[in-house]
Amino acid sequence: MPKLIIDGQEIEFQQGQTVIQAALKHGIDIPHFCWHPKLSVSGNCRVCLVEIEKMPKLVIACSTLASEGMIVHTQSEKTLAARNAVMEFILINHPLDCPICDEAGECKLQDYAYQHSPGESRFVEEKQHKDKRVPVGPFVMLDVERCIMCSRCIRFCDEIAKDPELTFTKRGDRVTLATYPGREMDNPYSLNTTDICPVGALTNRDFRFHARVWDMSSTKSICTGCARGCNTEVWVRNNEIMRLTPRYNEEVNSYWMCDSGRLNTWKFVNAEDRVNSPQLRRDGLLVKVGWDEAFSAAASEIKLIGKEEIAFIGSAFATNEDNYVFAKFAKSVFGSKHLDFIRYTDPSFGDDILRRNDITPNSLGAELSGVAPSKSGKNIYEIIEGIKTGKIKALFVMEDDPVAAYSELESLFSKLDLLIVHATNYNKTTQLADIVFPAATFAEKNGTMVNFKRVIQRLRPATSTIELDRSLNGMSMSRLDKFGTKFDKWAQSTKRDARPSWKILTGLAAALGTKYKYQIAEDVFEELASAVDAFRGINYDDIGEIGIKIKKEFTAVEKV
Ligand code: SF4
Ligand code: SF4
Repeated sequence: MPKLIIDGQEIEFQQGQTVIQAALKHGIDIPHFCWHPKLSVSGNCRVCLVEIEKMPKLVIACSTLASEGMIVHTQSEKTLAARNAVMEFILINHPLDCPICDEAGECKLQDYAYQHSPGESRFVEEKQHKDKRVPVGPFVMLDVERCIMCSRCIRFCDEIAKDPELTFTKRGDRVTLATYPGREMDNPYSLNTTDICPVGALTNRDFRFHARVWDMSSTKSICTGCARGCNTEVWVRNNEIMRLTPRYNEEVNSYWMCDSGRLNTWKFVNAEDRVNSPQLRRDGLLVKVGWDEAFSAAASEIKLIGKEEIAFIGSAFATNEDNYVFAKFAKSVFGSKHLDFIRYTDPSFGDDILRRNDITPNSLGAELSGVAPSKSGKNIYEIIEGIKTGKIKALFVMEDDPVAAYSELESLFSKLDLLIVHATNYNKTTQLADIVFPAATFAEKNGTMVNFKRVIQRLRPATSTIELDRSLNGMSMSRLDKFGTKFDKWAQSTKRDARPSWKILTGLAAALGTKYKYQIAEDVFEELASAVDAFRGINYDDIGEIGIKIKKEFTAVEKV
């Protein structure tokens, strides 16, 4: 491999790499605004200027190819003087309104102003003033005077979203970012521009002014909006999710996520309509009861139903752990053969970038975890047919809303002798249920999901429930660290009384005389990994932050 020297350190590089790429690969940070690893090089911000021996002038590291024997200085007197000058130039017309800027705390310009600038300005004239609130699209607000004209957002629309919508107009210090005439920035990935904008010029209209960055915790998770499973950070303040942002994972989503996933997949966690305790139907109304009362009521009702008369509907929205225990509960506690889950596809959602037609996060995982009819058992359509003919008299639904999926089920479900539902929020199915158990959302539990590429990935609790607190409180700090949670930031006041479905089923199995020994989600996964070939030998540590791929031969339906 060819080598070059940066700041006295000899490093290897690949032919075709630029100086900035070679440096970053070896942990040498050369400041940059306009350069982004996934966008074409524009070379306009000039802050990555470096000195290269035998070159007459300073050059920009983002567009200079590394070559054998090259000697680069990123900290020489000349380089630092140029960097200071560039920073001073960029800051001339920047409003420096950090105290009211959403980007403060995660702003490249703010960071570099501390790290790489002289710390004061010689510019005493009036700054250029430009529009501060331009809604450039349904989700993005532009503050024109904060823009440093790096063109990242323009290149993102052109090259990643493949929908040219933005351009610069005017010249010199009057340069203005704008949408093309008659257009707005409404591509399905528009909010990624707010992530890559190195300043607070482009902000998320949904999140704007809702929280300061330093007041939130962030937890590594995945988006549940479709089968891609984009890697995310879940940002929480006072036990409420404030926003999702994408997290880099080259195999899954690179640096990006879609606007729908970012905006539509988490508000139900904070919503007022959360199911907040177990409920039993009495005199036609759902009444709140304690967990033990709900378990024993469910157990006595279930005992009255024959094993051929009950069917189980698992969920492509639930984790592998939930689905595995659900399948085990259906098959081994009841000996039921009628077990399936609903597949949701939307051909208008998928595209060639990230979004998938499968709008559930874990259909593959649900299958692999055993949610499938046994031989001669009924699949989802046959279960519905069975309810119509009266052969199926009871239904157990976990984390899904079949009545919303199939409207004809509303009248059918009201004929059932028993309908038990695990739900995070009240929905059309809970309206008909006899017993409702409050299920923890993706943001309140540990667990795993398998995306369409067969990558198994982790969910981690970002917000707290009463149950989660109870189970985590008994653990050592090293065990807590393993959960990857920001325990100390959780608010103490807004706890919801919800449990992960595997845990609800463990309680119900106990009420029916079967003891499962799971204490935490990892216990369930250990058993799953020993029972299902696709997961064999995998543990939570292996899955880590970016997931691991399960082998191709293990993507077919398997039986537990
Ligand atoms: S709005 Fe942000 S990303 Fe776009 S050109 Fe201006 S500074 Fe760069
Ligand atoms: S592509 Fe799918 S997984 Fe990714 S952010 Fe959008 S909805 Fe979520």
